[in-house]
Amino acid sequence: YAAKAARSGSMTYDARHDVHSPARIQLINELRGSIDNEHLSLHYQPEIDLATGRVIRVEALLRWQRPDGSRLLPDEFLPLVESSETIDRISRWVLDKAVADCREWQEAGIAAGVSVNLSPHNLHDDRLGPDIATALVKHGLAPSQLTVEITESGILGDIARATRTFQHLRDLGVGVSIDDFGTGYSSLLHLKHLPFTELKIDRSFTNEMLANAHDAAIVRSIIDLCHELGRAIVAEGVETQEVLDRLVEYGCDIVQGYYVSRPLDKSTLHAWLRQAPQFSREAAMQGRASP
Ligand code: C2E
Ligand code: MG
Ligand code: MG
Ligand code: MG
Repeated sequence: YAAKAARSGSMTYDARHDVHSPARIQLINELRGSIDNEHLSLHYQPEIDLATGRVIRVEALLRWQRPDGSRLLPDEFLPLVESSETIDRISRWVLDKAVADCREWQEAGIAAGVSVNLSPHNLHDDRLGPDIATALVKHGLAPSQLTVEITESGILGDIARATRTFQHLRDLGVGVSIDDFGTGYSSLLHLKHLPFTELKIDRSFTNEMLANAHDAAIVRSIIDLCHELGRAIVAEGVETQEVLDRLVEYGCDIVQGYYVSRPLDKSTLHAWLRQAPQFSREAAMQGRASP
């Protein structure tokens, strides 16, 4: 059954979760091979700075197009290689590509930085920091234009190591973002010694915020506490004007979500950025995004 599933290209429960499944092993090998032959690509999703209404940066999101034409999302294939050296190779590819692409749009006059997701396993990779520095120099991108994101739950596994890696990245001038905050059951006070620059509130809170008073209170207090600690706050998963309005009211700094834009391939991103609508605080207050 597994072999048949692999041939037909469908991702079955077996293929992804049974470690002994031949289909799973074949997928892992295919993914390894994809790193060097352009079957991996990046889509980019804009993040809006509410103080200016402009795109402050875009988040790189990995896509895998398999030879049979099927396309997989990161949550469908990254778990296959999560704790192996393959994830280190993938992160290097993503970093290099994102830094090169960012330099390209900045050369074209678009002043947006880029943000890259790292896997918890990358925290154990001592070459990561030096290789990031090398990629920035190679492509001529200012360190302040790069942010790396790592999930709250990924950090909790080894806070001491995360602190060292974050400090190294901060010393380089790279931004550090804690992703999916609120899902790892840690307190923000627990993380206050981590040298991060911004926090991304998980989209489950953003989604429920209008319907659920508890979620609204959580979002509001995360924003306030984050500001007390001198860090910026990003809300992900913003899908409606109503949610945007509420986030503006609460003093959120940066928003990202389908309401602003879906993740876009690079050429669509360039076109979108050239005629990007403004999502300013004022426009949000007036209940619309002005063109
Ligand atoms: P994430 O970093 O939290 O990225 C946000 C995810 O939410 C993306 O899913 C994005 O497409 C989706 N999203 C954005 N706005 C909305 C919205 O308004 N509504 C809804 N429902 N969804 C929205 P995607 O691209 O499938 O990525 C899933 C996760 O995979 C990411 O979550 C990130 O943790 C991981 N990932 C993505 N790219 C990479 C990568 O290059 N390396 C590593 N290690 N992980 C990656
Ligand atoms: Mg992210
Ligand atoms: Mg996230
Ligand atoms: Mg996520």
